[in-house]
Amino acid sequence: MNREPVTSLKGIGEKTGGLFRRLGVETVEDLIHNYPRAYDAYEPALPIGQAKEGKVCTICGQLVKEAALRQFKNMQIVVTAVKDLTGSMQLAWYNMPYLRTTLQMGKILVFRGRVVRKGNRLAMEQPEVFTPESYGEISGSLRPVYGQTKGLGNKAIAKAVAQALKSREVETEYLPERLRKKYRLVEYPCAIEKIHFPANQEEMLGARKRLVFDEFLFFLLAVGLWKEKRQDWKSRYPMGPVRELECFQKNLPYDLTGAQKNVLAEVQEDLASGAVMNRLIQGDVGSGKTVIAVMALLQTAFHGYQGAMMAPTEVLAKQHFQSIQELFASQGIEKRVVLVTGSMTAREKRLVYEQIARHEADIIIGTHALIQEKVVYDKLALVITDEQHRFGVGQREALGQKGARPHVLVMSATPIPRTLAIILYGDLDISVVDQMPAGRTPIKNCVVDTGYRDRAYRFIEKEVAAGGQAYVICPMVEESEMMDAENVLDYTKQLRKKLPPGIRVEYLHGKMKGREKNQVMEQFASGEIQVLVSTTVVEVGVNVPNATVMMIENAERFGLAQLHQLRGRVGRGERQSYCIMVDSSGEEDTRKRLDILNRSNDGFYIASEDLKLRGPGDIFGQRQSGDLAFQLADIFTDADLLKAVSEEARRLREEDPLLEKEGHRALKQKLEEYLGLSYEKLSL
Ligand code: ADP
Ligand code: MG
Repeated sequence: MNREPVTSLKGIGEKTGGLFRRLGVETVEDLIHNYPRAYDAYEPALPIGQAKEGKVCTICGQLVKEAALRQFKNMQIVVTAVKDLTGSMQLAWYNMPYLRTTLQMGKILVFRGRVVRKGNRLAMEQPEVFTPESYGEISGSLRPVYGQTKGLGNKAIAKAVAQALKSREVETEYLPERLRKKYRLVEYPCAIEKIHFPANQEEMLGARKRLVFDEFLFFLLAVGLWKEKRQDWKSRYPMGPVRELECFQKNLPYDLTGAQKNVLAEVQEDLASGAVMNRLIQGDVGSGKTVIAVMALLQTAFHGYQGAMMAPTEVLAKQHFQSIQELFASQGIEKRVVLVTGSMTAREKRLVYEQIARHEADIIIGTHALIQEKVVYDKLALVITDEQHRFGVGQREALGQKGARPHVLVMSATPIPRTLAIILYGDLDISVVDQMPAGRTPIKNCVVDTGYRDRAYRFIEKEVAAGGQAYVICPMVEESEMMDAENVLDYTKQLRKKLPPGIRVEYLHGKMKGREKNQVMEQFASGEIQVLVSTTVVEVGVNVPNATVMMIENAERFGLAQLHQLRGRVGRGERQSYCIMVDSSGEEDTRKRLDILNRSNDGFYIASEDLKLRGPGDIFGQRQSGDLAFQLADIFTDADLLKAVSEEARRLREEDPLLEKEGHRALKQKLEEYLGLSYEKLSL
């Protein structure tokens, strides 16, 4: 293992090192494990007339304009245009003024990038530039595409990776020969090299299979250890039923569904059992998981203990906080609820931490700030994580260690079939909320092309006039987060012009400060803002029942499960809701895929249908399972392998619980690295 910093590589100084750090890469080892996010097949150039909006294309033509430099806000934009016999295309680059020397009028060059629409013309933003000769050399090969950050482009990353691979000591194989043979896995050193630089698709898939196998194996061995470790933990906080909770339930503005009642009963049984609860509540978006969590927290508070709930985003944490406060106020419940988020000032944080430490807070809601070391709890008996797939197992552990083995409740809307859930959450008991609250009007869906936009805006206008609200999810540009924000801003500006002045349109994106985000979200929730233009930051968990329209631009770029999550933001109240998916691809396949959402509102079904439509070449496209603990593996695409590995992990632990046998030593060492702990310590 090479734990030297990346700056030990040639040509990487402090500055570039800092940029790598932003990608989560500190050491040479990290760099080697920073796998490509996708691969580009460098295809032959297309006639410009055949370039399609929304697609990455390669074109070759003559520059017909002197490259010009424009200033837009704090950005310098180089613009020019290229032409061939079939058409012309605008070209633009952000903050790369030096390109002007390459882009001389009359030159014939090759450009490769995503085609976008600018007004009524097609354009490419940030295309790669090649001479026809240099493109000829790479044409037909696969190139890695890495996650990038401003100032650190793909070429530079690939170059650093190549150097890192060269400088590394050859690692030995650690998987038992038996497993490698049985599953036809390539050797580890080879897999690492080929995952970055495969000669072709076959090599790439072979390398990927090996690495996915390892990811599953280590994860499942770890889950097995955790399960064993906490199997018989006695709880210091056994909690029997409390009368106040029955009152609370009776006074809710609705009756719990049968499924909610069942799950609540399971949770309460766990809490009273004397053992430490470790339970996952799975339920589709809108199935009403929050109220179950709130009741568990309330029960904890009535027993005189503290309970905490973590959400993956500040927006969601804040929303939970507010709705719990309102709920308690309306029922005259005097338990104290506090909020802890990363965007609070140091002073605010200190005050809340004091309240928590002195047990002046009964229920603590927050983001991952809750697991920061400074928070000291008093009798922390219950920890809930909402939408847990966004939290790593390690984080769960860290929070768990804050108390004397608190009860753990994990809530997730990720549509995972039960067979897989049992494997992945092997250390948790599983409850399913498999019923929707009554009285929901099913969402009406449509998939439309970009020509429908104006009608969609008129429709939003009408809905707002009738008292509703709308989300518009903006085209996301993956290439750079900076452009993501620009898109949302531009779109908002345009939309304001298209809607009457009485309608307030605001925006939300991931680069905004926590405080700003909260403010916008609050104003949207209270109805002061009627139309919210947003990136996918609203995807998870947010609840504004008055919103009736979800319009999704560039729907073709999302995975179906993600679209389903987005759609789940509407249809939460009694009014009829609508989901308008704008498909900019104009392709038959995309239409077919999006049509699945038209037909079904069932998250499990949607995810499995999506899988059927995707071939092995799409594995690096949309990952359905969010960011479980895996870098490469996708639990849907790799479901069969996951099942097989689960079987192997079980067998390994049965045969050789401490991995002491001769053939398992190397594996044990690797697993310890993965766990960051000694295997023996964990398995005791
Ligand atoms: P999710 O399971 O996606 O977290 P929420 O807990 O946010 O869903 O619930 C969605 C909405 O449904 C909320 O407005 C909530 O108040 C409401 N709700 C929850 N349970 C019921 C029920 N039994 N009957 C009617 N509405 C309910
Ligand atoms: Mg929720």
